[in-house]
Amino acid sequence: MRSIAIVLMVCLPVSAQQPGWSHDVLESGTDVTVLQVPDASMQTTFVFLPIGLTADAPHRAQFSHLLEHMLIRMRDADGLEENGIRFNGETTALALRLETMAPAEQWRRSIAKHAAWLAVREFDEDVLAVEKGRIAGEEASTVSRGYTHKWAFAGWNQIVNHGLEHAAVHGDVASAEIEQVAAFARSALRRSHLRVFSVGPVEPEKVVAAVRDELGGFASPAREPLAAAAEPARGAVIEATWDLDRTHLLQWYGVPCGSAADRAAAWVAANQLNMLAQGEARLRRLGAVALASADYQGTHSLAVGVSVSLPEGVDVDEVRDILVSLEGRLPGLAAGSTLLIRQLAAATEKIPDFAPLRLRLGARARFAEANVVLQTAYQAIRVRVPRSEIATAYRAVSAEKLAALYRDHVNAAKRRTLVLRRGE
Ligand SMILES: [Zn+2]
Repeated sequence: MRSIAIVLMVCLPVSAQQPGWSHDVLESGTDVTVLQVPDASMQTTFVFLPIGLTADAPHRAQFSHLLEHMLIRMRDADGLEENGIRFNGETTALALRLETMAPAEQWRRSIAKHAAWLAVREFDEDVLAVEKGRIAGEEASTVSRGYTHKWAFAGWNQIVNHGLEHAAVHGDVASAEIEQVAAFARSALRRSHLRVFSVGPVEPEKVVAAVRDELGGFASPAREPLAAAAEPARGAVIEATWDLDRTHLLQWYGVPCGSAADRAAAWVAANQLNMLAQGEARLRRLGAVALASADYQGTHSLAVGVSVSLPEGVDVDEVRDILVSLEGRLPGLAAGSTLLIRQLAAATEKIPDFAPLRLRLGARARFAEANVVLQTAYQAIRVRVPRSEIATAYRAVSAEKLAALYRDHVNAAKRRTLVLRRGE
């Protein structure tokens, strides 16, 4: 296999002026993907850890998110910039992300910054108190607008993956003790498979060498495989409580996830379900905010589902009926999925022409390359393959495979529902 890769590289030389992808796996297991864009002004680096809101332990809702804040803030107590290097983090259902965006001459220091964050094992009471406040602020600002899907995943994980009756999505963070955070950091960082994505003007070999120097000592074991369709811990409809001021309805279907093509098919299905949910006038009229995805992940399982955030007073049963009607319309969309599949495959293969993209973005032009690589990185995380294999995985999804997925898995017998209401 190695010789084939070398032949391909010889056949497809990348000129110094053209952007090109590279991919390396370090001795430690860390995965490094670089897109070199010679005329980009910034080097942006994302480091992903597979500890997201659906992987938190029982009674530890959002600890992944809290850890993201603590790693950054133990080194950089304030602001989101240091010596010209902008930085940030975000924790989604599937991953904790740390990011830096550096002027070209500062790129090497930005890689060292990632290493410094990931080396944090000592935590400070005062920093913890500040970050609890910041997270509470994020909750408050999103709850008022109905963008509560991230928190709903944290709640879903507590109720469905761990079998709790009440998800303290706010309270677990609010009452977190420093020793709990330190213990979580010790165990979670030790077993995390790191994925690094970097984009900018720097040659890939230099980026890989810097990542090896700075992060090579970070043991990065392979991810645990996914194998089974999600099986319900309890009945088909679970009524539970959480401590955010919003009612949430989640409806999901366990799907096969053992192969890359299975996981790609789950995301094609999620895209189609999302199109139906976003286009559903009845949901909009009710003021409900819907989002479909295949982010419903157990230890070894995966599900496709839709999450709906409901304003006060909306009848949950009415929304449930609407979601059931969406399920009924999915099989009719399978035959027309070819274009969507082709687009999903092409999006991670085709390198856009960045010059017109920068012009279009105007003042935000420096984010052009970063945005493209970020979308690609999330596809790699979702399908659980290196960047170069995402397109192949999507192309292995046929309209027939999708039709079978809808017939066998997205149906009344497999449907699971969680209603999260405010409660103690
Ligand atoms: Zn945050």
